[in-house]
Amino acid sequence: MNLAEPLLPGEVALVGAGPGSPDLLTVAATKLLADCDVVVYDALVSREILALASPVADWIEAGKRGGRPSAEQADICDTLIRLALGGKRVVRLKGGDPFVFGRGGEEIRALADAGVPFRVVPGITAGVAAPAMAGIPVTDRAVNSTLAFLTGHEASGESRMDWAALVQAFPVLVFYMGAKNLAQIATRLLEAGLPGETPVAVIHSATLPEETQATGTVAAAASGKLTAESPAIEQLVIVGDVVAQAVPWRAGPGQTRIEAEASDLFE
Ligand code: SAH
Repeated sequence: MNLAEPLLPGEVALVGAGPGSPDLLTVAATKLLADCDVVVYDALVSREILALASPVADWIEAGKRGGRPSAEQADICDTLIRLALGGKRVVRLKGGDPFVFGRGGEEIRALADAGVPFRVVPGITAGVAAPAMAGIPVTDRAVNSTLAFLTGHEASGESRMDWAALVQAFPVLVFYMGAKNLAQIATRLLEAGLPGETPVAVIHSATLPEETQATGTVAAAASGKLTAESPAIEQLVIVGDVVAQAVPWRAGPGQTRIEAEASDLFE
């Protein structure tokens, strides 16, 4: 297996771009970006990473924001297939890891169905990178032997999730896409029996210059107190006692700590 080998004409690489900082790209991602004909990228991928693409490569943004996701997903698959059949060497760049809440599965299925050769380059997922950068050990022998990655979308409306079972089974919960629903998520967790004093960390734009963090409790989050400065979309929420095990190891600009008040909690 040689993931970093140059792409052949007509080949697509589904590449994970990691959480944002170019420092967290894989060697394969860096090499394939530097030598491809087209980069089809998501809105989540940072400018710094796009700047590493071959200067002669075309850039196509495959953003799904604000539209009809399924129709746009079909368009993205069609675009990839069209480019590949046209003999292009295509890098399909996705934030984090392509298969973690990234719809990468749909894309490779479409490529396979169309007979387009492809490879997959895993990336560092935000659910691992964001806590690490905040010094939070996402598993800690004293706290958890299981870990759940979830989408925050599940907290709104009719949730398909069994929240009580979730809280029972997983001492640490990592929510992607939880920015809009944080209060709702926290309320569901309290209702499911999670103690209100369970610590929560909210990390915005992990690894990027504008990174901010907020820490507090589930009860504070449920009462809407735990929000970071900006309503940035790239926000990861970590719930569990591992947050209290944090050993912050970075200092300086880009890191703000907002301590939410646990006193006027919701009860
Ligand atoms: N495939 C991606 C996740 C895509 S879903 C991955 O593996 O990381 C998009 C969600 O990822 C965002 O809503 C946010 O919750 C999270 N996310 C991605 N990059 C992030 C970052 N730099 N900081 C914080 N959260 C991030």
